[in-house]
Amino acid sequence: MKTNCPICKSTDIENLLQIHAPSMQNKVYESESDAIHCITGVIDLAHCNKCNFSFNASFNEAILQYDQNYDNAVPSTIFHEYYIAICHYLFTNYNLEGAVVYDIGCGKGTFLNLLCSLFPSIKGVGIDPSYEGDLKPLHNLTFIQDFFRAEQVIDAPNLIISRHVFEHIEFPKEFLQIIQEPIKKFRDVPVFIEVPDFGWIVKNKTFWDLCYEHCNYFSEKSLEAVFDNEWSVLNKITKSFGGQYLWVEGIFNSSKNEISRANNETIDCNAIKEFIESIKNSQDSIKRVLQNYKNQKYKIIVWGMATKGVIFSNTIDKNRKNIDYCIDINKEKQNKFSPISAHKIVSPDILETLEKTECLVVVMNINYINEIKLEVAKHHIHANFIDAHGNEL
Ligand SMILES: [Zn+2]
Repeated sequence: MKTNCPICKSTDIENLLQIHAPSMQNKVYESESDAIHCITGVIDLAHCNKCNFSFNASFNEAILQYDQNYDNAVPSTIFHEYYIAICHYLFTNYNLEGAVVYDIGCGKGTFLNLLCSLFPSIKGVGIDPSYEGDLKPLHNLTFIQDFFRAEQVIDAPNLIISRHVFEHIEFPKEFLQIIQEPIKKFRDVPVFIEVPDFGWIVKNKTFWDLCYEHCNYFSEKSLEAVFDNEWSVLNKITKSFGGQYLWVEGIFNSSKNEISRANNETIDCNAIKEFIESIKNSQDSIKRVLQNYKNQKYKIIVWGMATKGVIFSNTIDKNRKNIDYCIDINKEKQNKFSPISAHKIVSPDILETLEKTECLVVVMNINYINEIKLEVAKHHIHANFIDAHGNEL
């Protein structure tokens, strides 16, 4: 277990919580038995009092295996619209006409593909050792199945993107340097990073957002420590996606003598402790809510089996007694089983079998509430909607 902070190396850290979780909550399994016997990990949530960073002190990267059963795609209209909004923001803000854009840790390349489709003058290069698709899907888009290296940087980059990567990387400050290293001969390269906001998790007490894949829980303040290098400047942090994410914008190799802004939000360690103390009550309370509905013969549906739905059903319905259906619109997950508790993930088509039935829909991410209500409205179902704390929506 780490006894110093992965970012600032301080030993002034507090261990706040220990939980067991599936090592990969976005991996699905062909059989119930495979799901039950999946690899699990320990989350020892620790907080650094010096740089305000929170992290899993017991994180062991070796137990993670990103293979074909790993799928974090969200084929939702709302999420697609969010992607489009980021693309427009980046294009306008960074004047990307004819620009060269690198996406580090691009995963399946969905975001970069959209950016290059919307703006054909952009030349996009996606870098990810786990990338498996077409290496040249568009005339202006190339994928490289590798780690980021200097020899891949032929043209001066106009923007470096890294979305939803830093929360998975054990040493995020070193990773920033890994991104900067291949481009260190170029001046004034903007960088755009997106990560979940731990401030939002703490404030909203969403225990289902604590997962093993995410070894890092950034506050705005802690990102200052990541950017505390002679070659990087942190310019701006913006909350996005209903406050759940942070857009982190900075410059590598600045030719000006810029100073990072220092008015970023700090998370009070006491607030994290309050959140942790609330977890048991939250879990007991939502269990009671589900039980009440169950007693009234409602069918219980959990909607959204990405991180949130998987962690939620694992913690509040270990024995699969209360949740009747776990729905996800990602076809790759349907008819497969979620890790540990082995809840079967089904398509929204299941609603056809529930006509004239009373259902309770637990909406795992309220950003999708309108999309979910529209889908349910296509059927003759009497449905109540709640968030994962039991609040009616
Ligand atoms: Zn620290």
